[in-house]
Amino acid sequence: MLEEYYADLVVIGSGPSGQKAAIQSAKLGKKVVMIEKDQYPGGACLNSGTIPSKSLREAIIDLTNFYRRSFYAKEKTRDKEISIKDLNYRLNCVLDQQREMFLKQFERNKIRLLSGSASFENMQQVNVTNAEGAITHKVTGEFFIIATGSKPRNPNNVPFDDKRVLDSTRLLSIEKLPKSMLVLGGGIIGSEYASFFAALGTKVTIIDKKEQMLPLLDKEIGLHLQNSLTDIGLEFLGKKEVKEIVQKNDQVVVKFKEGDTIEAETLLYALGRIANVDHLHIDRAGITVDEKGYIPVNALFQTCVPSIYAIGDVIGGPALASTSMEQGRLAARHAFGKKTHHFPSFYPIGIYTIPEISSCGYTEEALKELGFQYEVGRCYYYEIARNQITGNDPGMFKILFHRDTLEILGIHIIGRAATEVIHIGQVAMTFNAKVDYFIDQVFNYPTYAEGYRIAALNGYNKLVRN
Ligand SMILES: Cc1cc2nc3c(=O)[nH]c(=O)nc-3n(C[C@H](O)[C@H](O)[C@H](O)COP(=O)(O)OP(=O)(O)OC[C@H]3O[C@@H](n4cnc5c(N)ncnc54)[C@H](O)[C@@H]3O)c2cc1C
Repeated sequence: MLEEYYADLVVIGSGPSGQKAAIQSAKLGKKVVMIEKDQYPGGACLNSGTIPSKSLREAIIDLTNFYRRSFYAKEKTRDKEISIKDLNYRLNCVLDQQREMFLKQFERNKIRLLSGSASFENMQQVNVTNAEGAITHKVTGEFFIIATGSKPRNPNNVPFDDKRVLDSTRLLSIEKLPKSMLVLGGGIIGSEYASFFAALGTKVTIIDKKEQMLPLLDKEIGLHLQNSLTDIGLEFLGKKEVKEIVQKNDQVVVKFKEGDTIEAETLLYALGRIANVDHLHIDRAGITVDEKGYIPVNALFQTCVPSIYAIGDVIGGPALASTSMEQGRLAARHAFGKKTHHFPSFYPIGIYTIPEISSCGYTEEALKELGFQYEVGRCYYYEIARNQITGNDPGMFKILFHRDTLEILGIHIIGRAATEVIHIGQVAMTFNAKVDYFIDQVFNYPTYAEGYRIAALNGYNKLVRN
Protein backbone atom coordinates (compact mmCIF):
# COMPACT_ATOMS: atom_id res chain seq x y z
CA MET A 1 0.00 0.00 0.00
CA LEU A 2 1.31 3.46 -0.90
CA GLU A 3 2.16 5.52 2.19
CA GLU A 4 2.72 9.26 2.43
CA TYR A 5 5.03 10.99 4.90
CA TYR A 6 6.13 14.45 5.84
CA ALA A 7 9.52 15.01 7.48
CA ASP A 8 11.53 18.07 8.53
CA LEU A 9 14.50 16.38 6.89
CA VAL A 10 14.65 13.63 4.27
CA VAL A 11 18.07 11.97 4.01
CA ILE A 12 18.80 9.82 0.95
CA GLY A 13 21.51 7.26 1.71
CA SER A 14 22.58 5.75 5.03
CA GLY A 15 26.39 5.96 4.70
CA PRO A 16 28.47 7.94 7.22
CA SER A 17 27.45 11.34 5.81
CA GLY A 18 23.70 10.65 5.81
CA GLN A 19 23.89 8.91 9.17
CA LYS A 20 25.51 11.90 10.93
CA ALA A 21 23.14 14.36 9.24
CA ALA A 22 20.14 12.31 10.39
CA ILE A 23 21.34 11.94 13.98
CA GLN A 24 22.29 15.63 14.28
CA SER A 25 18.81 16.65 13.06
CA ALA A 26 17.06 14.21 15.39
CA LYS A 27 19.07 15.65 18.31
CA LEU A 28 17.65 19.05 17.36
CA GLY A 29 14.17 17.57 17.78
CA LYS A 30 13.44 17.28 14.06
CA LYS A 31 11.40 14.60 12.35
CA VAL A 32 13.80 12.67 10.12
CA VAL A 33 13.17 10.10 7.41
CA MET A 34 16.09 8.21 5.90
CA ILE A 35 15.81 6.23 2.67
CA GLU A 36 18.24 3.41 1.88
CA LYS A 37 18.16 1.11 -1.13
CA ASP A 38 20.60 -1.55 0.04
CA GLN A 39 19.63 -4.51 2.20
CA TYR A 40 21.92 -3.31 4.99
CA PRO A 41 22.24 0.29 6.11
CA GLY A 42 25.67 1.86 6.62
CA GLY A 43 26.63 2.64 3.03
CA ALA A 44 29.80 1.69 1.19
CA CYS A 45 31.67 2.61 4.37
CA LEU A 46 30.19 -0.23 6.38
CA ASN A 47 29.30 -2.76 3.71
CA SER A 48 32.04 -2.66 1.10
CA GLY A 49 34.63 0.02 1.91
CA THR A 50 36.18 1.37 5.08
CA ILE A 51 35.04 -1.13 7.70
CA PRO A 52 35.51 -4.36 5.66
CA SER A 53 38.94 -3.30 4.42
CA LYS A 54 40.15 -2.25 7.86
CA SER A 55 38.76 -5.42 9.48
CA LEU A 56 40.57 -7.54 6.88
CA ARG A 57 43.76 -5.59 7.50
CA GLU A 58 43.62 -6.29 11.22
CA ALA A 59 42.83 -9.97 10.62
CA ILE A 60 45.79 -10.27 8.22
CA ILE A 61 48.18 -8.59 10.65
CA ASP A 62 47.07 -10.95 13.45
CA LEU A 63 46.87 -14.18 11.48
CA THR A 64 50.21 -13.67 9.72
CA ASN A 65 51.82 -12.57 13.01
CA PHE A 66 53.02 -9.66 10.95
CA TYR A 67 54.57 -7.71 13.81
CA ARG A 68 56.43 -10.71 15.20
CA ARG A 69 58.43 -11.14 12.02
CA SER A 70 61.37 -9.02 13.06
CA PHE A 71 61.92 -11.07 16.25
CA TYR A 72 61.12 -14.55 15.07
CA ALA A 73 61.93 -16.28 11.80
CA LYS A 74 59.13 -15.64 9.32
CA GLU A 75 58.43 -19.32 8.70
CA LYS A 76 57.98 -19.99 12.43
CA THR A 77 55.41 -17.27 12.97
CA ARG A 78 52.60 -18.77 10.88
CA ASP A 79 50.67 -21.45 12.69
CA LYS A 80 48.75 -22.60 9.61
CA GLU A 81 47.75 -21.61 6.10
CA ILE A 82 45.33 -18.70 6.16
CA SER A 83 42.05 -19.06 4.29
CA ILE A 84 39.38 -16.61 3.21
CA LYS A 85 37.15 -18.21 5.85
CA ASP A 86 39.61 -17.19 8.58
CA LEU A 87 39.68 -13.62 7.29
CA ASN A 88 35.90 -13.40 6.85
CA TYR A 89 35.22 -14.66 10.36
CA ARG A 90 36.56 -11.44 11.88
CA LEU A 91 35.02 -9.30 9.17
CA ASN A 92 31.55 -10.74 9.81
CA CYS A 93 31.85 -10.25 13.59
CA VAL A 94 32.64 -6.55 13.04
CA LEU A 95 29.88 -6.09 10.46
CA ASP A 96 27.29 -7.66 12.79
CA GLN A 97 28.29 -5.38 15.66
CA GLN A 98 28.33 -2.25 13.51
CA ARG A 99 24.95 -3.01 11.92
CA GLU A 100 23.37 -3.65 15.30
CA MET A 101 24.81 -0.41 16.69
CA PHE A 102 23.56 1.51 13.66
CA LEU A 103 19.96 0.25 14.03
CA LYS A 104 19.94 0.90 17.78
CA GLN A 105 21.12 4.48 17.21
CA PHE A 106 18.33 5.03 14.71
CA GLU A 107 15.72 3.57 17.00
CA ARG A 108 16.93 5.65 19.97
CA ASN A 109 16.79 8.84 17.90
CA LYS A 110 13.41 7.94 16.36
CA ILE A 111 14.71 8.14 12.82
CA ARG A 112 12.38 6.48 10.36
CA LEU A 113 14.30 4.19 7.99
CA LEU A 114 12.54 3.46 4.69
CA SER A 115 13.83 0.67 2.50
CA GLY A 116 13.90 1.31 -1.26
CA SER A 117 15.39 3.50 -3.94
CA ALA A 118 14.68 7.25 -3.72
CA SER A 119 14.04 9.48 -6.71
CA PHE A 120 12.96 13.11 -6.82
CA GLU A 121 9.47 13.93 -8.04
CA ASN A 122 10.17 17.64 -7.62
CA MET A 123 12.13 19.83 -5.19
CA GLN A 124 9.72 19.10 -2.30
CA GLN A 125 9.06 15.38 -2.81
CA VAL A 126 10.86 12.09 -3.29
CA ASN A 127 9.32 8.74 -4.14
CA VAL A 128 10.56 5.45 -2.75
CA THR A 129 10.51 2.50 -5.14
CA ASN A 130 10.82 -1.17 -4.17
CA ALA A 131 12.81 -3.88 -6.00
CA GLU A 132 9.81 -4.62 -8.27
CA GLY A 133 9.73 -0.98 -9.39
CA ALA A 134 6.54 -0.06 -7.51
CA ILE A 135 6.33 3.23 -5.58
CA THR A 136 5.84 2.38 -1.90
CA HIS A 137 6.20 5.83 -0.27
CA LYS A 138 5.85 9.47 -1.22
CA VAL A 139 7.89 11.64 1.14
CA THR A 140 7.64 15.41 1.29
CA GLY A 141 10.03 17.48 3.36
CA GLU A 142 11.25 20.91 4.33
CA PHE A 143 14.89 19.95 3.66
CA PHE A 144 16.55 17.13 1.70
CA ILE A 145 20.07 15.80 1.98
CA ILE A 146 21.50 13.76 -0.88
CA ALA A 147 24.04 11.37 0.66
CA THR A 148 24.06 8.66 -1.99
CA GLY A 149 27.83 8.10 -2.04
CA SER A 150 29.85 6.49 -4.79
CA LYS A 151 30.60 3.14 -6.42
CA PRO A 152 33.66 1.68 -8.18
CA ARG A 153 34.20 2.90 -11.73
CA ASN A 154 33.64 -0.13 -13.98
CA PRO A 155 34.43 0.69 -17.64
CA ASN A 156 32.62 -1.50 -20.19
CA ASN A 157 35.83 -2.72 -21.82
CA VAL A 158 37.11 -4.36 -18.62
CA PRO A 159 35.93 -8.01 -18.29
CA PHE A 160 34.77 -7.88 -14.62
CA ASP A 161 33.53 -11.04 -12.93
CA ASP A 162 33.43 -12.17 -9.30
CA LYS A 163 36.48 -14.40 -9.46
CA ARG A 164 39.40 -12.88 -11.36
CA VAL A 165 38.77 -9.33 -12.55
CA LEU A 166 37.60 -7.54 -9.45
CA ASP A 167 36.82 -4.12 -8.03
CA SER A 168 36.99 -3.28 -4.32
CA THR A 169 33.41 -4.54 -3.77
CA ARG A 170 33.75 -7.81 -5.74
CA LEU A 171 37.05 -8.51 -3.97
CA LEU A 172 35.11 -9.09 -0.74
CA SER A 173 33.42 -12.19 -2.15
CA ILE A 174 36.39 -14.13 -3.54
CA GLU A 175 36.45 -17.73 -2.38
CA LYS A 176 40.17 -18.41 -2.23
CA LEU A 177 43.32 -16.41 -1.71
CA PRO A 178 45.07 -15.78 -5.04
CA LYS A 179 48.71 -16.73 -5.53
CA SER A 180 49.29 -13.64 -7.67
CA MET A 181 47.49 -10.34 -8.13
CA LEU A 182 47.81 -7.29 -10.36
CA VAL A 183 46.51 -4.06 -8.84
CA LEU A 184 45.62 -1.42 -11.36
CA GLY A 185 45.93 1.97 -9.69
CA GLY A 186 48.35 3.08 -6.97
CA GLY A 187 45.82 5.33 -5.21
CA ILE A 188 44.58 4.80 -1.65
CA ILE A 189 42.28 1.80 -2.25
CA GLY A 190 44.72 0.04 -4.62
CA SER A 191 47.73 0.58 -2.34
CA GLU A 192 45.89 -0.56 0.79
CA TYR A 193 44.65 -3.83 -0.71
CA ALA A 194 47.99 -4.43 -2.47
CA SER A 195 49.81 -4.23 0.86
CA PHE A 196 47.26 -6.53 2.58
CA PHE A 197 47.67 -9.26 -0.05
CA ALA A 198 51.44 -8.86 -0.11
CA ALA A 199 51.45 -9.37 3.68
CA LEU A 200 49.47 -12.57 3.11
CA GLY A 201 52.13 -13.86 0.74
CA THR A 202 50.35 -13.19 -2.58
CA LYS A 203 52.72 -12.03 -5.33
CA VAL A 204 51.40 -8.51 -5.89
CA THR A 205 52.27 -6.02 -8.64
CA ILE A 206 50.84 -2.50 -8.61
CA ILE A 207 50.56 -0.86 -12.02
CA ASP A 208 50.14 2.89 -12.41
CA LYS A 209 50.78 5.49 -15.07
CA LYS A 210 52.36 7.77 -12.45
CA GLU A 211 56.00 7.43 -11.46
CA GLN A 212 55.22 6.92 -7.77
CA MET A 213 52.47 5.34 -5.69
CA LEU A 214 50.11 7.66 -3.81
CA PRO A 215 51.25 10.92 -5.43
CA LEU A 216 49.13 12.90 -2.93
CA LEU A 217 51.69 12.06 -0.25
CA ASP A 218 54.79 13.99 0.71
CA LYS A 219 57.32 12.46 -1.71
CA GLU A 220 59.71 11.26 0.99
CA ILE A 221 56.88 9.42 2.78
CA GLY A 222 55.72 7.91 -0.53
CA LEU A 223 59.22 6.57 -1.19
CA HIS A 224 59.42 5.21 2.35
CA LEU A 225 56.16 3.34 1.69
CA GLN A 226 57.39 1.97 -1.61
CA ASN A 227 60.57 0.66 0.08
CA SER A 228 58.62 -0.92 2.94
CA LEU A 229 56.30 -2.63 0.48
CA THR A 230 59.22 -3.88 -1.61
CA ASP A 231 60.55 -5.45 1.60
CA ILE A 232 57.37 -7.55 1.91
CA GLY A 233 57.60 -8.63 -1.73
CA LEU A 234 55.37 -6.14 -3.53
CA GLU A 235 56.43 -4.82 -6.93
CA PHE A 236 55.53 -1.37 -8.27
CA LEU A 237 55.41 -0.83 -12.04
CA GLY A 238 55.19 2.92 -12.63
CA LYS A 239 54.80 4.91 -15.88
CA LYS A 240 52.77 2.13 -17.51
CA GLU A 241 49.73 2.75 -19.69
CA VAL A 242 47.25 -0.11 -20.03
CA LYS A 243 45.85 -0.89 -23.49
CA GLU A 244 43.69 -3.91 -22.79
CA ILE A 245 42.70 -6.37 -20.07
CA VAL A 246 41.72 -9.92 -21.11
CA GLN A 247 41.09 -13.24 -19.40
CA LYS A 248 42.99 -16.20 -20.87
CA ASN A 249 43.59 -19.74 -19.53
CA ASP A 250 42.53 -18.90 -15.98
CA GLN A 251 44.80 -15.88 -15.93
CA VAL A 252 44.23 -12.15 -16.32
CA VAL A 253 46.49 -10.62 -18.95
CA VAL A 254 47.22 -6.89 -19.04
CA LYS A 255 48.54 -5.59 -22.35
CA PHE A 256 50.45 -2.31 -22.19
CA LYS A 257 50.60 0.43 -24.82
CA GLU A 258 54.36 -0.20 -25.04
CA GLY A 259 53.58 -3.73 -26.39
CA ASP A 260 54.63 -5.80 -23.36
CA THR A 261 52.23 -7.83 -21.17
CA ILE A 262 51.94 -9.05 -17.59
CA GLU A 263 49.64 -11.72 -16.15
CA ALA A 264 48.39 -12.98 -12.80
CA GLU A 265 45.66 -15.09 -11.25
CA THR A 266 43.56 -12.02 -10.31
CA LEU A 267 43.35 -8.33 -11.03
CA LEU A 268 42.03 -5.59 -8.76
CA TYR A 269 40.81 -2.65 -10.81
CA ALA A 270 41.19 0.38 -8.55
CA LEU A 271 41.04 3.31 -10.94
CA GLY A 272 38.54 5.58 -9.26
CA ARG A 273 34.93 5.76 -8.17
CA ILE A 274 31.86 7.52 -9.56
CA ALA A 275 28.99 9.34 -7.85
CA ASN A 276 25.75 7.42 -7.23
CA VAL A 277 23.16 9.55 -9.01
CA ASP A 278 21.53 6.92 -11.24
CA HIS A 279 17.74 6.81 -10.96
CA LEU A 280 17.77 9.72 -8.49
CA HIS A 281 16.22 12.14 -11.02
CA ILE A 282 17.91 15.19 -9.51
CA ASP A 283 16.97 17.00 -12.72
CA ARG A 284 13.33 16.97 -11.58
CA ALA A 285 14.45 18.99 -8.56
CA GLY A 286 16.38 21.38 -10.83
CA ILE A 287 19.87 20.01 -10.05
CA THR A 288 22.53 18.86 -12.53
CA VAL A 289 25.90 17.18 -12.07
CA ASP A 290 29.27 18.75 -12.98
CA GLU A 291 31.55 17.50 -15.78
CA LYS A 292 32.95 14.76 -13.50
CA GLY A 293 29.49 13.52 -12.54
CA TYR A 294 29.46 15.00 -9.00
CA ILE A 295 26.75 17.22 -7.50
CA PRO A 296 28.08 20.79 -7.14
CA VAL A 297 27.56 22.46 -3.74
CA ASN A 298 28.54 25.72 -2.01
CA ALA A 299 30.72 25.90 1.13
CA LEU A 300 27.64 25.11 3.25
CA PHE A 301 26.84 21.97 1.18
CA GLN A 302 23.74 23.48 -0.45
CA THR A 303 23.06 22.56 -4.05
CA CYS A 304 21.69 25.17 -6.45
CA VAL A 305 18.36 24.54 -4.67
CA PRO A 306 18.97 25.98 -1.16
CA SER A 307 16.66 23.49 0.62
CA ILE A 308 18.51 20.51 -0.94
CA TYR A 309 21.98 19.70 0.39
CA ALA A 310 24.50 17.16 -0.91
CA ILE A 311 27.31 15.64 1.17
CA GLY A 312 29.89 12.86 1.17
CA ASP A 313 31.28 11.04 -1.87
CA VAL A 314 28.47 12.26 -4.15
CA ILE A 315 30.05 15.75 -4.14
CA GLY A 316 33.56 14.43 -4.96
CA GLY A 317 36.80 14.75 -2.93
CA PRO A 318 38.11 14.23 -0.36
CA ALA A 319 35.73 11.22 -0.42
CA LEU A 320 36.57 9.87 3.03
CA ALA A 321 34.23 8.52 5.67
CA SER A 322 35.87 10.87 8.18
CA THR A 323 35.21 14.04 6.18
CA SER A 324 31.77 12.84 5.03
CA MET A 325 30.58 12.52 8.62
CA GLU A 326 31.49 16.12 9.43
CA GLN A 327 29.91 17.36 6.20
CA GLY A 328 26.68 15.63 7.28
CA ARG A 329 26.67 17.22 10.73
CA LEU A 330 27.43 20.68 9.32
CA ALA A 331 24.76 20.47 6.59
CA ALA A 332 22.07 19.46 9.12
CA ARG A 333 23.03 22.25 11.53
CA HIS A 334 22.97 24.82 8.77
CA ALA A 335 19.56 23.64 7.52
CA PHE A 336 18.03 24.13 10.96
CA GLY A 337 19.71 27.47 11.65
CA LYS A 338 22.15 26.23 14.29
CA LYS A 339 25.66 27.53 14.91
CA THR A 340 28.01 26.07 12.35
CA HIS A 341 31.48 26.65 10.92
CA HIS A 342 33.19 26.22 7.59
CA PHE A 343 34.66 22.82 6.91
CA PRO A 344 38.19 22.75 8.47
CA SER A 345 40.86 23.79 5.99
CA PHE A 346 43.17 21.02 7.16
CA TYR A 347 42.29 17.58 8.49
CA PRO A 348 44.17 14.31 8.80
CA ILE A 349 44.23 11.79 6.00
CA GLY A 350 44.66 8.18 7.08
CA ILE A 351 45.95 5.55 4.68
CA TYR A 352 45.85 2.03 6.06
CA THR A 353 48.54 0.41 3.99
CA ILE A 354 50.89 -1.89 5.90
CA PRO A 355 52.69 0.22 7.18
CA GLU A 356 49.99 2.83 7.75
CA ILE A 357 50.36 6.52 6.92
CA SER A 358 48.76 9.68 8.17
CA SER A 359 49.36 13.30 7.39
CA CYS A 360 48.00 16.74 8.13
CA GLY A 361 48.90 20.03 6.48
CA TYR A 362 51.35 20.87 3.70
CA THR A 363 53.74 18.47 1.98
CA GLU A 364 57.35 19.55 1.50
CA GLU A 365 56.74 19.81 -2.26
CA ALA A 366 53.82 22.23 -1.68
CA LEU A 367 55.91 24.40 0.67
CA LYS A 368 58.70 24.62 -1.94
CA GLU A 369 56.21 25.62 -4.60
CA LEU A 370 54.66 28.27 -2.34
CA GLY A 371 58.11 29.65 -1.45
CA PHE A 372 57.92 29.04 2.32
CA GLN A 373 61.05 29.35 4.48
CA TYR A 374 60.70 25.99 6.15
CA GLU A 375 62.79 23.51 8.11
CA VAL A 376 62.32 19.74 8.45
CA GLY A 377 62.53 17.63 11.59
CA ARG A 378 62.72 13.86 11.20
CA CYS A 379 62.53 10.92 13.53
CA TYR A 380 62.97 7.40 12.22
CA TYR A 381 61.10 4.60 13.93
CA TYR A 382 64.38 2.83 14.77
CA GLU A 383 65.08 5.74 17.16
CA ILE A 384 61.86 5.09 19.11
CA ALA A 385 62.20 2.70 22.07
CA ARG A 386 58.54 1.64 21.85
CA ASN A 387 59.10 0.52 18.28
CA GLN A 388 62.17 -1.51 19.21
CA ILE A 389 60.11 -3.24 21.89
CA THR A 390 57.11 -3.97 19.69
CA GLY A 391 58.79 -5.16 16.53
CA ASN A 392 61.30 -2.92 14.76
CA ASP A 393 58.86 -1.82 12.09
CA PRO A 394 59.84 0.67 9.42
CA GLY A 395 58.55 4.22 9.73
CA MET A 396 59.26 7.89 10.23
CA PHE A 397 57.88 11.16 11.58
CA LYS A 398 58.42 14.25 9.45
CA ILE A 399 57.53 17.68 10.81
CA LEU A 400 57.66 20.74 8.56
CA PHE A 401 57.74 24.12 10.28
CA HIS A 402 58.39 27.77 9.47
CA ARG A 403 62.04 28.70 10.00
CA ASP A 404 61.25 32.13 11.52
CA THR A 405 57.90 31.76 13.26
CA LEU A 406 58.28 28.05 14.15
CA GLU A 407 54.66 27.51 13.05
CA ILE A 408 53.91 23.86 12.29
CA LEU A 409 53.10 23.62 8.58
CA GLY A 410 52.80 19.90 8.00
CA ILE A 411 53.07 16.58 9.81
CA HIS A 412 53.61 13.29 8.01
CA ILE A 413 53.91 9.94 9.73
CA ILE A 414 54.43 6.49 8.27
CA GLY A 415 54.57 3.44 10.50
CA ARG A 416 52.70 1.65 13.24
CA ALA A 417 50.09 3.80 15.08
CA ALA A 418 50.44 6.67 12.54
CA THR A 419 46.67 7.05 12.09
CA GLU A 420 46.26 7.43 15.87
CA VAL A 421 49.22 9.63 16.83
CA ILE A 422 48.57 12.09 13.98
CA HIS A 423 45.82 13.63 16.11
CA ILE A 424 48.39 15.00 18.56
CA GLY A 425 49.90 17.00 15.71
CA GLN A 426 46.49 17.96 14.38
CA VAL A 427 45.50 19.42 17.76
CA ALA A 428 48.82 21.27 18.04
CA MET A 429 48.28 22.77 14.57
CA THR A 430 44.66 23.69 15.33
CA PHE A 431 45.71 25.62 18.43
CA ASN A 432 48.63 27.26 16.58
CA ALA A 433 51.28 25.60 18.73
CA LYS A 434 54.85 26.14 17.53
CA VAL A 435 57.24 23.27 16.92
CA ASP A 436 59.00 23.87 20.28
CA TYR A 437 55.74 22.83 21.99
CA PHE A 438 56.78 19.25 21.32
CA ILE A 439 60.20 19.93 22.85
CA ASP A 440 58.96 21.58 26.03
CA GLN A 441 56.42 18.89 26.92
CA VAL A 442 57.00 15.59 28.69
CA PHE A 443 55.78 12.56 26.72
CA ASN A 444 54.91 9.15 28.12
CA TYR A 445 57.88 6.84 27.62
CA PRO A 446 58.15 4.53 25.79
CA THR A 447 55.51 5.57 23.23
CA TYR A 448 55.25 6.09 19.49
CA ALA A 449 54.16 9.67 20.26
CA GLU A 450 57.70 10.34 21.47
CA GLY A 451 58.52 10.55 17.76
CA TYR A 452 57.11 14.10 17.79
CA ARG A 453 59.66 15.19 20.35
CA ILE A 454 62.58 13.52 18.58
CA ALA A 455 61.54 15.00 15.21
CA ALA A 456 60.98 18.46 16.70
CA LEU A 457 64.41 18.40 18.35
CA ASN A 458 65.99 17.23 15.12
CA GLY A 459 64.50 20.15 13.19
CA TYR A 460 64.96 22.79 15.90
CA ASN A 461 68.62 21.92 16.43
CA LYS A 462 69.29 22.62 12.76
CA LEU A 463 68.10 26.21 13.30
CA VAL A 464 70.14 26.76 16.43
CA ARG A 465 73.32 25.61 14.73
CA ASN A 466 72.83 27.81 11.66
C1 LIG B 1 37.80 0.01 -0.14
C2 LIG B 1 37.54 1.33 0.51
C3 LIG B 1 38.23 1.67 1.65
C4 LIG B 1 37.99 2.90 2.28
N1 LIG B 1 38.69 3.21 3.40
C5 LIG B 1 38.46 4.39 4.05
C6 LIG B 1 39.13 4.70 5.26
O1 LIG B 1 39.93 3.92 5.74
N2 LIG B 1 38.85 5.86 5.87
C7 LIG B 1 37.94 6.75 5.36
O2 LIG B 1 37.72 7.81 5.99
N3 LIG B 1 37.28 6.48 4.20
C8 LIG B 1 37.52 5.33 3.54
N4 LIG B 1 36.84 5.03 2.38
C9 LIG B 1 35.91 6.01 1.83
C10 LIG B 1 34.55 5.94 2.52
O3 LIG B 1 34.05 4.62 2.53
C11 LIG B 1 33.58 6.85 1.79
O4 LIG B 1 34.15 8.13 1.70
C12 LIG B 1 32.26 6.94 2.55
O5 LIG B 1 31.62 5.69 2.60
C13 LIG B 1 31.33 7.95 1.85
O6 LIG B 1 30.18 8.05 2.62
P1 LIG B 1 28.80 8.53 1.98
O7 LIG B 1 27.87 8.70 3.13
O8 LIG B 1 29.03 9.68 1.11
O9 LIG B 1 28.32 7.37 1.02
P2 LIG B 1 28.26 5.79 1.07
O10 LIG B 1 28.97 5.23 2.24
O11 LIG B 1 28.68 5.36 -0.28
O12 LIG B 1 26.70 5.50 1.26
C14 LIG B 1 25.76 5.90 0.33
C15 LIG B 1 24.48 5.11 0.55
O13 LIG B 1 23.46 5.65 -0.28
C16 LIG B 1 22.67 4.59 -0.79
N5 LIG B 1 21.97 5.05 -2.01
C17 LIG B 1 22.52 5.40 -3.20
N6 LIG B 1 21.56 5.80 -4.07
C18 LIG B 1 20.39 5.70 -3.40
C19 LIG B 1 19.05 5.97 -3.75
N7 LIG B 1 18.71 6.44 -4.95
N8 LIG B 1 18.08 5.74 -2.82
C20 LIG B 1 18.40 5.26 -1.58
N9 LIG B 1 19.64 4.99 -1.21
C21 LIG B 1 20.65 5.22 -2.09
C22 LIG B 1 23.68 3.49 -1.06
O14 LIG B 1 23.04 2.23 -1.13
C23 LIG B 1 24.58 3.63 0.16
O15 LIG B 1 24.14 2.82 1.21
C24 LIG B 1 37.05 3.80 1.74
C25 LIG B 1 36.33 3.45 0.58
C26 LIG B 1 36.57 2.23 -0.03
C27 LIG B 1 35.79 1.86 -1.25
